[in-house]
Amino acid sequence: MDKAWLIRNVCAGFCCFYKPEKDEELACKGFLVLEDLTLRQDAIAANDREKLLRDDTMNDLYGMLCKTCPFFVDGCDFAAERRGEGTKSARQVSMPCGGILFLGVCLERGSIDIKALNGVI
Ligand code: SF4
Ligand code: SF4
Repeated sequence: MDKAWLIRNVCAGFCCFYKPEKDEELACKGFLVLEDLTLRQDAIAANDREKLLRDDTMNDLYGMLCKTCPFFVDGCDFAAERRGEGTKSARQVSMPCGGILFLGVCLERGSIDIKALNGVI
């Protein structure tokens, strides 16, 4: 998928780590996988960014993507918490990156299936 479209819709639209003034050299695994996928650009509605993903979707994506993400070891509180290295209090839960959230919404809407996702990992 087109990089500029992904930055506008995934980074700016879904990601709490996005800083428009910063030209990031590293991209998360979710973003890298989306670059290799072909997906209809209208597959997501604007209000989907508020959607909470199901636990099974989150677990699948963590298992498939996070361990090979450039931010897995250093730079992602969500991954650290999943490894049992809590950085926040028990009542606070860190958000994953926009790439994971966007892919999760696509999976739950049926815009993409696990097979297609596995094919680009
Ligand atoms: S972490 Fe991923 S989704 Fe978030 S700004 Fe970086 S590349 Fe975009
Ligand atoms: S949630 Fe963290 S480790 Fe997983 S793909 Fe996103 S940035 Fe990488």
